[in-house]
Amino acid sequence: MRCPFCGKLNNRVIDSRLSRTEMEIRRRRECQECSRRFTTFETVEDLPVMIVKKDGRREEFIRGKILAGIKKACEKRAISMIQIEDLVDNIERELRDLNYKEIHSSVVGEKIMHHLHRIDDVAYVRFASVYREFSSVDDFIDALKKLGTSSQQIESIDEQSFSDKREEVEGTPYQESLSEQQLNLDAEFINEQ
Ligand SMILES: [Zn+2]
Repeated sequence: MRCPFCGKLNNRVIDSRLSRTEMEIRRRRECQECSRRFTTFETVEDLPVMIVKKDGRREEFIRGKILAGIKKACEKRAISMIQIEDLVDNIERELRDLNYKEIHSSVVGEKIMHHLHRIDDVAYVRFASVYREFSSVDDFIDALKKLGTSSQQIESIDEQSFSDKREEVEGTPYQESLSEQQLNLDAEFINEQ
């Protein structure tokens, strides 16, 4: 394993632990050349789980995509990377436990929302607003109110989320961007922003 900082191969393992899913070992390594530390992951090679997109296309389940979407939704919230990683671990495990070769992207989206809802209302609403494509600002505010978010929070989320959306559609006709969102009803959409 090459050191990502200096490219040398000479390093030692200083810590090793099994992830919660017990499917992955994280190893903390220290480079013997530049003394910097980095983490490597060792996983059991699973059979790929294919995600069926709304338009019928299949693509391999990629953990990194979900992670990126969730990170985006959790931006500037009091949520640690460990919480996010655990959340992704749980989602990935649940998907693999289904033991299907193919899983519809809506199942993935619902799972992400379910887990986000449990850790942070704002992150949940951000994700859901992209995922479910609220048809109006009023729907969006209603969803927030149902979550019992304070009006001050609503103001700031409302502004932020909808200004994000405006950025997304910049340069593309609004309709085109909408249909793209409908085709990508999963975390990937957030990822692509
Ligand atoms: Zn090094």
